[in-house]
Parts: sequence; C-alpha cells; structure tokens
Amino acid sequence: DIDVWESISPDPNLLLRIPVSHVPARDRSKQELARRRRANLAPALSLSYADPLHIVAGDGAYLVDADGRRYLDLVNNVAHVGHGHPRVVSALAAQAELLNTNTRYLHGTIIEYARRLAATFPDPLSVVMLTNSGSEANDLALRMARTATGREHVLVLDWAYHGNLGSLVEVSPYKFNRAGGDGPGPRVRVCELPDPYRGRYGADGPRYAADVATHCADAPPAAFLHESILGCAGQIEPAPGHLAAAYAAAREAGALCIADEVQCGFGRVGSHMWAFEAHGVIPDIVTLGKPIGNGHPLGAVVTTPAVARAFQTGMEYFNTYGGNPVSCAAGLAVLDVLRDERLMAHAAEVGTCLAAGLTELATRHSIIGDVRGRGLFLGVDLVEDRATKRPATEAAARVVELAREGGVLLSLDGPHGNVLKIKPPMVLTRADAETALATLDRVLAMVGDVTT
Ligand code: PLP
Repeated sequence: DIDVWESISPDPNLLLRIPVSHVPARDRSKQELARRRRANLAPALSLSYADPLHIVAGDGAYLVDADGRRYLDLVNNVAHVGHGHPRVVSALAAQAELLNTNTRYLHGTIIEYARRLAATFPDPLSVVMLTNSGSEANDLALRMARTATGREHVLVLDWAYHGNLGSLVEVSPYKFNRAGGDGPGPRVRVCELPDPYRGRYGADGPRYAADVATHCADAPPAAFLHESILGCAGQIEPAPGHLAAAYAAAREAGALCIADEVQCGFGRVGSHMWAFEAHGVIPDIVTLGKPIGNGHPLGAVVTTPAVARAFQTGMEYFNTYGGNPVSCAAGLAVLDVLRDERLMAHAAEVGTCLAAGLTELATRHSIIGDVRGRGLFLGVDLVEDRATKRPATEAAARVVELAREGGVLLSLDGPHGNVLKIKPPMVLTRADAETALATLDRVLAMVGDVTT
C-alpha cells in the first residue's frame, strides 16, 4: 500500500506536513475502507461525493487525500482556526500528557476556560456549563428554559436544525420536514422562516414579529430558540429588525430567548464574535459547539446568573466528560489563536472579497439567484430561473462534484439542497478565495446550459 501511495504522489510538497510513514496503514486503501465502512459503520450518513473522498491529513484551509492531492476546504466550520493548527495540537498534547479526567474535580484548565469564554460575552451572560457537543448544549438549554419558566412549549424557526438527540428532533424542522413524518410534536410551534429572498415577509420585521406573537398567544412558550444565521435552512440571515422584534414578542409572552451559535459563533460573521450581536439582541441562553474545540469534542451553554440559579434549584446537572481538561485546553488554544491571529477581522476582510467575487460571478452566471451571508458564513442560492427562483437542485449537485474535481470542496444546504454553503476554516487567505472563485467560475460555465 505504501509504495502505491508514494508513487501516486511524486511531489512531496503535495503531502504538506504529513510524511507517508505517519499515515496508519489502515488508512491507505480506499476500496478496503469503503468495504469495511459498509460492513461495520451503519447506519451512517451518506458520504459526500459519488466517488467518496478518502482524506488522510489537513493543514490550514486544505485537506489532503490518500493520493496526496490537496483540496481547498470551503465547508469545514469545525476546523475553525485551521486543520491541525500547531498551537491547538500542542495544547491538546500537553494536557493529555498531564491529565484527562471527568469534571468532578477542581481543575485549573477547566475553570480558566470558563472564565475566558465568559469574558467574550456581553453582560449579563457570564455562567458557563460545558458539554461534549452542540446537541448536548441545545438539549441542556431547553431543559434550563423549561425548568426556569415552568413551561413546556418552544418556538423555533422553520427549517432550523438544532441537533441529533431525541429531544432536538422535535425542534428541528430540517429533520422532520425532510422525513415527511409527524411534524413538530405537540409542545413545539414552528415560526415562518425569516427568509429575505424567498420568504413571505421580505424585510418586514414587525409583520414577522406579529407571526411570533400569534404563536405565543396560542401556547405560552418556555423559549424562543433560533440561529442568528440559519445554516441548514440555507445560509439564511433574518432581515434587519426581525430578530429584535421576535425577541420583544417572545419576552412579552414570558419566554426565554436561546441563541444557537453552534454554526455562526466564534467570529465567523466577521463583524462580531457572536452572530446575535449583529442583530442587536442579547439572549438569555447561548449554545456553542463545532468550532469551539477546533474539531475536538466540546460544547457549551452560556447563560445569566438568574437563569442558572433558577435551573439549579430545579435540577442538578452532571456530564462526565463535558468540559474535560483536554477539550478545555483545545478551547483555550482556539481563543488564543482567534485573538493573536486577529481571525475575526481577517474573516471580515476575506469574506468581503469572497462575497464581492461571488456577486461579480452572478453578473455572468444566471444560475446564481442570490449571494448572501456575512464574513465567512456565505451562501450561494442556485436557481433554474431568476424570475421564479425555482431551485437548481440537480445542477447544484453537479457543481459540487465538478468543484471537487477542480480541487475545491463545497457542499449543499437548504430545503431544496440548492444552496452552496461556504464556511471555510477562518485562516482562508485572499489568494485561496481567488482560487475558489476562479474554480467556481469555470464550474458554473460548465453547468450553465441547464439554466433558462
Ligand atoms: N445546532 C446547529 C445550528 C447545528 O448546525 C448543529 C450541527 O450541525 C448542531 C446544533 C448540533 O451539533 P452537534 O452535531 O455537534 O451535536
């Protein structure tokens, strides 16, 4: 296997930092891996791409496959400060060498992490609870809101996705809409997707708030749970004023507001550390995941002292590995790198270039119906017809396959699977952005004939 692999990769630079000898032998035969995955890893999410990508290494904004080929990774919002960032890797290694344990002890790394994380939030958000994932964070947030208010109902936005636990399926229209099953369940109310491009209300914030108020009147909610830019729903940012108006309506009805920042947090939007700040709201509870540990399992709930007190009197919370020292060491390194490499400002700058380039592509490719988002959280809505906005779902799938052949990894989101999502590691450079745009230009020209 090693010989085959080396001869396919004659240029040692293609392999970046990873020498062939460091890749485990089990990771060197794609056919064998695919066979074993089918046999033992079920039920698994289907793999991206018709011909699955067999990755063995990552560096910065790039992934490397088993043939030594580099791909620009435009969709990995987990490797937030870059694949294999040396500061994160050495922080993980140093803490693992010293100690990893459950969270029943007084431990400096955990407490320092909670302090540093809390300091990134506006007042009064100052109490941190640590979990292993974004799903666990959302599950905990809902329990907190229900315990604190003594109510059961939750308001969510249509096509939102909040996680994979049993408690979250009923608040994730992205899941139950697709499954075509039973819908949200009796204690959940689904508010209209505040989509400025396809939505009914366009930029009319007050009318949208009236929709939220109607649901509140129907059943007094424990919480209004939302993303400030919806990822799975198709990279959709509520129009200015929508969220603030929805908060006012929800709070008027006595609900707590929960911002799910699992996808849009940690400076990705460029203008702010947290996407809710871009909408002028301060939630009662915030949930975090994905980028928080740069791919190392970690999640968090951040709330106010008042909500934390109300929750703790109602129930004790324990999570064996949530916030273990190794995960917290990774979390601390992520905060350090964000600060020292000024990645939020960088995301704003590179994201602005990327968005301008995509908007320019739209002048030449009629398949682009809408370019949207903030910072390095962008979406490109592909349509068959700009007038009707009919989604170009099949063409979008071809774009993703052709881009991969051209060395750029993209993926699709949204109710119709026609929105290219662009959420690269935050270290993406301007040169990388130019490469991505040139590739997309070529690929869109290749599929252009499907548009009318
Ligand atoms: N919330 C949002 C907005 C997400 O996109 C996801 C995952 O895709 C989750 C929560 C769940 O996070 P995890 O998969 O880490 O449990």
